[in-house]
Amino acid sequence: HLGPKRPPSRKGSMADVPRNLMDELAKYQELLTVSPQKLKKITDHFISELEKGLSVKGGNIPMIPTWIVDYPTGEETGEYLAIDLGGTNLRVVLVKLLGNCKFDTEQSKYHLPSDIRTTRDKDILFSYIADSVAKFINDLYPNGVPKGKILPLGFTFSYPCTQSRIDTGVLQRWTKGFDIPGVEGYDVVPMLVSQFEKRKVPVKLVALINDTSGTLVASRYTDPATEMGLIFGTGCNGAYYDRIHNIPKLAGKLQDDITQDSPMLINCEYGSFDNEHLALPRTKYDIIIDAQSPRPNQQAFEKMIAGYYLGEVLRLILVELYEKNLILEKYKSDNEGIKLLNEPYILDTEVLTRIEDDPFENLEDTCTLFKEKLHLEFTSPERKLIRKLAELIGTRAARLSICGIAAVTKKMNYLKCHCAADGSVFNHYTNFPARAVDGLADIFDWKLQGLKPEDYPIQIVPSEDGSGVGAAVAAALTHRRIEKGLS
Ligand code: BGC
Ligand code: MG
Repeated sequence: HLGPKRPPSRKGSMADVPRNLMDELAKYQELLTVSPQKLKKITDHFISELEKGLSVKGGNIPMIPTWIVDYPTGEETGEYLAIDLGGTNLRVVLVKLLGNCKFDTEQSKYHLPSDIRTTRDKDILFSYIADSVAKFINDLYPNGVPKGKILPLGFTFSYPCTQSRIDTGVLQRWTKGFDIPGVEGYDVVPMLVSQFEKRKVPVKLVALINDTSGTLVASRYTDPATEMGLIFGTGCNGAYYDRIHNIPKLAGKLQDDITQDSPMLINCEYGSFDNEHLALPRTKYDIIIDAQSPRPNQQAFEKMIAGYYLGEVLRLILVELYEKNLILEKYKSDNEGIKLLNEPYILDTEVLTRIEDDPFENLEDTCTLFKEKLHLEFTSPERKLIRKLAELIGTRAARLSICGIAAVTKKMNYLKCHCAADGSVFNHYTNFPARAVDGLADIFDWKLQGLKPEDYPIQIVPSEDGSGVGAAVAAALTHRRIEKGLS
């Protein structure tokens, strides 16, 4: 994912776009562009919010201690099962940690039934997970699991959970459009374990971790320069190791072996940055998305940048242009025509990716997609405008996303390090990584210093299957503590 695939825009290629549309485009450009100065301001506010989250009083950003208090060394070994419940898929992974910074994985992916994210019955979700694990184990041991064998299991659960130990997780709130009653405020571990017990699945859940923590420990297993784990996907979040003396809210809650200098892995949950709306350049589209979400006033930052929401920003702008009589004129006589465009969330981030990857300036390759998804035909000038809008939306997301990395590395004074990244947006939205890196360079003035991207001291590196391997590494670290008589 190095930079744009598409050839640079040909000069004058917008020449056939009517004046009134160009005027609109200029307005959107103004609205959606985030300057280097603004990024720096956001980052500084971000740092103070991270610190608030670590204080006794707390703040908007949860800054959750995960009770992972060791760095992986790459020498951890063992066989672990890992489950990764993400926004769209459930993966079950067998991870063999081989030591010497090496591992092997075998995995199965199960598509989450689309209505499961809003099912009224939480048991449906946890039964589905337990069934998938049972199936995976049956395939692994066609003749049955050897008698007495219990597989240690790490559970990657990509939602904000309060942890009093590594094998618990009280769900603070659903994010990314999930909305299942009876789970928020409760420990999700017994909900899953009881389904395993019902089915006599021979596993022991030893660690529950966030996907960002997983990404961090998995990458750190192979690369000791890793200081952050990041997800740019359906949701957005980051994790890093802080030091106990920087975490006032943990005073009095620590085991004897943990000193003021000990590391503690923190799952920031910084998707909730700026819920008070003091720093981010919020637009009316962001305000609508928030108001119409199942959890208004939460995840302000995430709702402006994460994959779950990006297509919706484009859709809202297109509806606005239609209502201003600026596009889709031939559908004006017939309101049925734009019925699908009026449907919230009909456009996902994949559509933005397809638009930006289209080699034609006027999106000839994307016409069929518009036809299939929206039953609409846009004119060639309209499609050129849509491309520009997608670029603006995608660029804004990438540049704002990076403020989380800038804030954590600046707070920790990490001048040179690797930040491991995973998630559908990072892996599939072609232009995203390069734009994110460019935003980071703006914040730290690297371009002014004459540095080239390959020399930037903070590098965002793709993580190797963080959520699966990370759960196994976390389980191995826990195992080591238990063996030492700690927990
Ligand atoms: C969740 C985080 C998660 C992130 C990326 C957010 O919505 O709150 O726990 O790490 O999405 O998956
Ligand atoms: Mg995931």
